[in-house]
Amino acid sequence: MAANFSEAQIAAIVKEVLSGMGSTTVKEASAKRWDSTQYEGRALIGIYDDMNAAIAAAADGYKAIRDMTVEKREKLITAIRELTRKEAPIMAQLGVEETGMGRVDHKTLKHILVADKTPGTEDIVSEAKTGDNGLTLVEMAPFGVVGSITPSTNPSETVICNSIGMIAAGNGVVFNPHPGAIAVSNYAVDLVNRACAAAGGPRVLVASVVKPTLETADFMYKHPAIRLLVCTGGPGVVKAVLSSGKKAIGAGAGNPPVIVDNTADIAKAGKDIIDGCTFDNNLPCIAEKEVFAFDCIADELIAAMKKNGAYMLTAAQANELAKVVLVEKENPKTGKTSVTVNRKCVGRDAAVIAKMIGLQVGADVRCLICEAGFEHPFVQHELMMPILPIVRVANIDEAIDLAVKAEHGNRHTAHMHSKNIDHLSRFAKAVETTIFVKNAPSYAGIGFGGEGHTTFTIAGPTGEGLTSARSFTRKRRCVMADSFRII
Ligand code: NAD
Repeated sequence: MAANFSEAQIAAIVKEVLSGMGSTTVKEASAKRWDSTQYEGRALIGIYDDMNAAIAAAADGYKAIRDMTVEKREKLITAIRELTRKEAPIMAQLGVEETGMGRVDHKTLKHILVADKTPGTEDIVSEAKTGDNGLTLVEMAPFGVVGSITPSTNPSETVICNSIGMIAAGNGVVFNPHPGAIAVSNYAVDLVNRACAAAGGPRVLVASVVKPTLETADFMYKHPAIRLLVCTGGPGVVKAVLSSGKKAIGAGAGNPPVIVDNTADIAKAGKDIIDGCTFDNNLPCIAEKEVFAFDCIADELIAAMKKNGAYMLTAAQANELAKVVLVEKENPKTGKTSVTVNRKCVGRDAAVIAKMIGLQVGADVRCLICEAGFEHPFVQHELMMPILPIVRVANIDEAIDLAVKAEHGNRHTAHMHSKNIDHLSRFAKAVETTIFVKNAPSYAGIGFGGEGHTTFTIAGPTGEGLTSARSFTRKRRCVMADSFRII
């Protein structure tokens, strides 16, 4: 894939995918009524009224694939990839309609990325140790049934990506999807089951519930059949999963800073940052959230951003907007209030957000930018919308100091545009993030225009990093004493 996609290239890819969709077009699909149990009158497969039944179905699915050959399992994965490619635009459209967040063209690309670059069974590699005392094998075995919590920001992408990895590892899966994205998440669960069944798998291998709640999640955590929990979401849910007493993989929040120094290709940096920041309206957790620019190149960088669809807010407009996109919320348990993002602004188009303060901008505006001080709420909060604050810094020491602070110790993702290898190395070491992207849009970090596999579950807190099939396995050792060496 090319490192940067122009709007025209994205449109061409989406058109190509749409042309392979057969009779159902996105327009037709959008006219249908949706719920979490059916699509066009067809009952979705693997969706249950209660979590207990969903877990039982996933456990049966696990039993069915436990004895399957790896070759057969890979056939299921291939079928999931094919169906995901085919139905990517449907899920993209439904995701945008249901959640009100993101962009159909970019969501289509995200699904295709998942289909193409999520590792399958090749990711499961056994280890052998031989010596004077014989042979020891370490094999990567399934856990059994995995319980997976998925977000609203990349809902069906996460369901399919996790399904591919978890099934490749030999597991069954039960999902407790985000309630705000339940129809599209359950559509993805159904898609995985349809693909697997058509390729010779069980009728249900992955399962979900009609109405996910915190209670169904809690039931899942405590159920003895669930051997591994995988959670993709904000700090609250990651904390809940890590407190479950079970083996858990936590993929939590980020607030990725970008540093641009005086050696960067400024025109490219401006374009890359806007491309990354506006991808799916900033919903990916890896997307650029705040910029620290050397003062001497900041004007040139802002001009490059404007050339690529950014609209410069005045300080007064930025402050007014901050009062709209960030709101005070009371914790019902403690009664304490805290500042949180306004969900009505998350993942919305820049023009829609601008309109909230009575500002009319053209539909060609992709991002609202502003100059800001380090303490500005746009710098401090993970907004997940196409608003990008730019903080001027004097030198690399100040840039690294502030960028590390703005990342808040999430150790999630950071970016830098520079040709100075000392600067690049110093920031990478200081920020300690799971992903560090140099001289490219943020999405290069998940394999979109960058080398390496993709995932939508980036497990910083628990250390698996960019998860893949091997993350969902447990190691088992088998020892043959004194034999089976050939030397
Ligand atoms: P969210 O945290 O609002 O919800 C995630 C899921 O957790 C939902 O299903 C929700 O109902 C459930 N949930 C929330 N609190 C819970 C609790 N205490 N117990 C049980 N379940 C609970 O997530 P969102 O707003 O859809 O996603 C955005 C957040 O997720 C951002 O912070 C983003 O950075 C993060 N995220 C991280 C990754 C990653 O790979 N690290 C990927 C996507 C999103």
